Amino acid sequence: MCIFCKIIEKEIPAEIVFEDEEILAFKDARPLAPVHILIIPKKHIASIDNLEDTDALLMGKLIVAARTLARKFDISEKGYRLLIRVGEWGGQEVPHIHLHLIGGAQLYEEIRLV
Ligand code: AMP
Ligand code: ZN
Repeated sequence: MCIFCKIIEKEIPAEIVFEDEEILAFKDARPLAPVHILIIPKKHIASIDNLEDTDALLMGKLIVAARTLARKFDISEKGYRLLIRVGEWGGQEVPHIHLHLIGGAQLYEEIRLV
Protein backbone atom coordinates (compact mmCIF):
# COMPACT_ATOMS: atom_id res chain seq x y z
CA MET A 1 0.00 0.00 0.00
CA CYS A 2 1.39 3.45 -0.85
CA ILE A 3 2.09 6.04 1.85
CA PHE A 4 -0.94 8.17 0.93
CA CYS A 5 -3.23 5.12 0.94
CA LYS A 6 -1.92 4.46 4.48
CA ILE A 7 -2.91 8.02 5.43
CA ILE A 8 -6.38 7.39 3.94
CA GLU A 9 -6.64 4.19 6.01
CA LYS A 10 -5.41 6.15 9.10
CA GLU A 11 -2.51 3.72 9.41
CA ILE A 12 -0.11 6.64 9.57
CA PRO A 13 -0.97 10.05 11.00
CA ALA A 14 -1.56 13.26 9.08
CA GLU A 15 -3.12 16.60 9.85
CA ILE A 16 -6.37 16.15 7.95
CA VAL A 17 -8.17 19.35 6.94
CA PHE A 18 -10.94 17.92 4.74
CA GLU A 19 -12.48 14.51 4.08
CA ASP A 20 -15.46 13.14 2.19
CA GLU A 21 -16.23 9.80 0.49
CA GLU A 22 -13.92 10.46 -2.44
CA ILE A 23 -11.32 12.98 -1.31
CA LEU A 24 -8.86 13.56 1.54
CA ALA A 25 -6.84 16.73 2.18
CA PHE A 26 -4.02 17.04 4.72
CA LYS A 27 -1.13 19.33 5.52
CA ASP A 28 2.14 18.66 3.71
CA ALA A 29 4.77 17.34 6.14
CA ARG A 30 7.43 19.63 4.60
CA PRO A 31 5.54 22.84 3.85
CA LEU A 32 6.99 25.19 1.22
CA ALA A 33 4.77 28.11 2.30
CA PRO A 34 2.51 29.09 5.23
CA VAL A 35 -0.33 27.10 3.66
CA HIS A 36 0.67 23.83 1.97
CA ILE A 37 -2.07 21.22 1.67
CA LEU A 38 -2.17 18.03 -0.36
CA ILE A 39 -5.54 17.05 -1.85
CA ILE A 40 -5.83 13.44 -2.96
CA PRO A 41 -8.44 11.06 -4.35
CA LYS A 42 -9.17 8.12 -2.03
CA LYS A 43 -8.99 5.92 -5.12
CA HIS A 44 -5.36 4.95 -5.66
CA ILE A 45 -4.26 6.42 -8.98
CA ALA A 46 -0.49 6.50 -9.35
CA SER A 47 -0.18 9.63 -11.50
CA ILE A 48 -1.94 11.82 -14.05
CA ASP A 49 -0.50 9.45 -16.64
CA ASN A 50 -2.58 6.62 -15.12
CA LEU A 51 -5.90 8.47 -15.24
CA GLU A 52 -8.87 6.86 -16.95
CA ASP A 53 -11.23 9.09 -18.92
CA THR A 54 -13.90 8.30 -16.30
CA ASP A 55 -11.74 9.92 -13.58
CA ALA A 56 -12.40 13.38 -15.06
CA LEU A 57 -15.17 14.26 -12.56
CA LEU A 58 -13.04 13.07 -9.64
CA MET A 59 -10.14 15.28 -10.75
CA GLY A 60 -12.52 18.21 -11.07
CA LYS A 61 -13.61 17.59 -7.48
CA LEU A 62 -10.00 17.89 -6.33
CA ILE A 63 -9.84 21.37 -7.85
CA VAL A 64 -13.17 22.40 -6.34
CA ALA A 65 -11.93 21.15 -2.94
CA ALA A 66 -8.79 23.28 -3.44
CA ARG A 67 -10.97 26.33 -4.03
CA THR A 68 -12.97 25.65 -0.86
CA LEU A 69 -9.83 25.06 1.24
CA ALA A 70 -8.19 28.22 -0.14
CA ARG A 71 -11.19 30.18 1.13
CA LYS A 72 -11.13 28.34 4.47
CA PHE A 73 -7.42 29.11 4.96
CA ASP A 74 -7.98 32.70 3.85
CA ILE A 75 -5.62 32.71 0.86
CA SER A 76 -8.20 33.19 -1.92
CA GLU A 77 -8.02 36.93 -2.10
CA LYS A 78 -4.25 37.21 -2.52
CA GLY A 79 -3.96 34.11 -4.68
CA TYR A 80 -2.16 30.79 -4.50
CA ARG A 81 -0.73 28.01 -6.61
CA LEU A 82 -2.03 24.56 -7.54
CA LEU A 83 0.58 22.02 -8.60
CA ILE A 84 0.56 18.42 -9.79
CA ARG A 85 3.91 16.77 -10.51
CA VAL A 86 3.88 13.82 -12.92
CA GLY A 87 6.45 11.04 -12.99
CA GLU A 88 10.22 11.07 -12.66
CA TRP A 89 11.03 14.11 -14.78
CA GLY A 90 8.11 16.01 -13.28
CA GLY A 91 9.65 15.48 -9.83
CA GLN A 92 6.79 13.35 -8.45
CA GLU A 93 7.92 11.60 -5.24
CA VAL A 94 4.76 9.86 -4.04
CA PRO A 95 3.04 7.56 -6.57
CA HIS A 96 -0.53 8.57 -5.66
CA ILE A 97 -2.05 11.62 -7.41
CA HIS A 98 -1.91 14.71 -5.22
CA LEU A 99 -2.83 18.30 -5.88
CA HIS A 100 -0.63 20.75 -3.96
CA LEU A 101 -2.42 23.86 -2.65
CA ILE A 102 0.33 26.35 -1.81
CA GLY A 103 -0.13 29.91 -0.59
CA GLY A 104 -0.03 32.43 2.19
CA ALA A 105 2.96 34.29 0.71
CA GLN A 106 4.11 35.70 -2.62
CA LEU A 107 5.41 32.73 -4.63
CA TYR A 108 8.15 32.96 -7.22
CA GLU A 109 9.01 30.64 -10.09
CA GLU A 110 11.26 27.72 -9.25
CA ILE A 111 11.35 25.52 -12.35
CA ARG A 112 15.02 24.77 -13.00
CA LEU A 113 16.81 22.34 -15.30
CA VAL A 114 19.80 22.08 -12.96
P1 AMP B 1 5.54 15.36 -4.94
O1 AMP B 1 7.01 15.69 -4.97
O2 AMP B 1 4.73 16.27 -5.82
O3 AMP B 1 5.29 13.90 -5.18
O4 AMP B 1 5.05 15.72 -3.49
C1 AMP B 1 5.07 14.82 -2.43
C2 AMP B 1 4.78 15.63 -1.19
O5 AMP B 1 4.34 14.76 -0.18
C3 AMP B 1 5.99 16.39 -0.64
O6 AMP B 1 5.69 17.78 -0.60
C4 AMP B 1 6.16 15.80 0.77
O7 AMP B 1 6.54 16.77 1.70
C5 AMP B 1 4.79 15.24 1.04
N1 AMP B 1 4.74 14.11 1.96
C6 AMP B 1 5.42 12.96 1.89
N2 AMP B 1 5.09 12.13 2.89
C7 AMP B 1 4.15 12.78 3.62
C8 AMP B 1 3.40 12.46 4.79
N3 AMP B 1 3.55 11.28 5.41
N4 AMP B 1 2.54 13.38 5.27
C9 AMP B 1 2.38 14.57 4.66
N5 AMP B 1 3.05 14.93 3.54
C10 AMP B 1 3.93 14.05 3.03
ZN1 ZN C 1 -2.14 5.12 -2.91
